[in-house]
Amino acid sequence: MVRITINGVEYQVEDDITILEACNRLDIPIPTLCHDERLNPYGACRLCLVELKGKNKLEASCTTKVRDGMEVETHSDKVVRTRREILDLLFSNHPEDCLTCEKSGDCKLQDYCYEYGVEKGSYLGEKRDYSIDDSNHFYTYDPNKCILCGKCVRVCDQLQGTSAIGFENRGFKTKVSTPFDMGLAKSTCVSCGNCVAACPVGALLPKRKIRYRAWEVKKVKTTCSYCGVGCQMYLLVKGNQVVGVEPAEGKPNNGLLCVKGRFGYSFINHTDRLKTPLIKRNGKFEEASWEEVYDLIVSKIKESKAKYGPNSLAGLTSARCTNEENYLFQKMFRALIGTNNVDHCARL
Ligand code: SF4
Ligand code: SF4
Ligand code: SF4
Repeated sequence: MVRITINGVEYQVEDDITILEACNRLDIPIPTLCHDERLNPYGACRLCLVELKGKNKLEASCTTKVRDGMEVETHSDKVVRTRREILDLLFSNHPEDCLTCEKSGDCKLQDYCYEYGVEKGSYLGEKRDYSIDDSNHFYTYDPNKCILCGKCVRVCDQLQGTSAIGFENRGFKTKVSTPFDMGLAKSTCVSCGNCVAACPVGALLPKRKIRYRAWEVKKVKTTCSYCGVGCQMYLLVKGNQVVGVEPAEGKPNNGLLCVKGRFGYSFINHTDRLKTPLIKRNGKFEEASWEEVYDLIVSKIKESKAKYGPNSLAGLTSARCTNEENYLFQKMFRALIGTNNVDHCARL
């Protein structure tokens, strides 16, 4: 442990952590645009600068480790002035689209500009004028709104392991790109959307069938039902409709999802979706209650077992069930019905 003083108050914190990590653990807010605790520190946005006693330059708190006796100011006049200047520079080079931008209300650049009193970019000059890449089926990339925080590139490389995107060009012309500028649709991108979830601004956005503002949706935490990994996710619910999905932090998925969990939710509101079980009577499916269905299943199993023995029956279970449900299913087949004919849809 080391002793450090932050904003005049002394704390004991673990050694070998950064000033930003120490502040996060102590609930002392520090703004960041490029930081993600799942990724290696990057030090690009400079918004997390803090003042250290005895040094006449500001240091990025995400890349500076705590030291015993260190005295840190996170919101001195100099720090706040510098952050305002950084935000001013970023917004000077940014479309003033907040009124219609889908990210409004959930955008870190917008939030920090509000917090630090940046009303408009004061550096007038050339603005970027790139076309929007909407070739991917599920999301769009608008380079004009990109603040070059590098989160998408690092998430794709360090967490997703696909490395489908990188930076091209230098300076003012830098933008996120695919190899040989082939466009997202033709790249190795697997459309997991993990870059989209990490983007702090409206540069990477999911394509929405139903439009919504961040404050209009209720976030309902749940477990993805597509496979047995158990990824944690939020369903975004507007009224009584699921209008989007966001990854949630969780042991199985570390804030990541795959393309199915992230974008395959439209079946939930689909008009063809079955809401009750069906029983075929006289060659036609008819709606039935669960009680009727279970009675029918039990009678058919008993009938088949009595006539042809337990091995006349086989059970196929599903990757969409939990481990516990799959365990119970095989137990029912082995112990109750008396057959080892149990398998799983993943091997069909
Ligand atoms: S990305 Fe953020 S700051 Fe930029 S226009 Fe959209 S809401 Fe405004
Ligand atoms: S959607 Fe996934 S694979 Fe495609 S660029 Fe983003 S993180 Fe990489
Ligand atoms: S697209 Fe978003 S996440 Fe990627 S560099 Fe630009 S602002 Fe950052």
